[in-house]
Amino acid sequence: MKINIFVLLIISTLSLESFAAECDQIIEGNDALQFNSKAMTVSAGCETITVTLKHTGQLPANIMGHNWVLTKSSDFMPVAQAGGGAGLENDYVPQNDSRVIAYSKIIGGGETTTVSFSTADLSKSESYTFFCSFPGHYAIMQGSLSVID
Ligand code: ZN
Repeated sequence: MKINIFVLLIISTLSLESFAAECDQIIEGNDALQFNSKAMTVSAGCETITVTLKHTGQLPANIMGHNWVLTKSSDFMPVAQAGGGAGLENDYVPQNDSRVIAYSKIIGGGETTTVSFSTADLSKSESYTFFCSFPGHYAIMQGSLSVID
């Protein structure tokens, strides 16, 4: 009987942790033009997703800036290309563009930023792409985001 309760406690603790991880995402960018993740999974059960972006490099934002931008995969290329013309003052993100689901500011080495967005407009049947919109980075710094229950 004691063993059964112990097992139940472990299972409930694990499920709580995985739930928290899906609502609260952490991703790192570095000076080598890389995110440390190519795929993110979020839960539709989360009302709000919070993505924390850490720049683990040392180069400043105007040289090796990174941000985290989310669009539908079909909008990724046109939004990424439009972002290059938006300028650093706009975080290389086209402003007032409904294709942009969420984006963080551009940060440099040693900095951290967060962005929160609602899951209300996300669909489990849709394919999403996250990327860095700093000019030239999106070709490498991109990954998929999928929504599960
Ligand atoms: Zn970048």
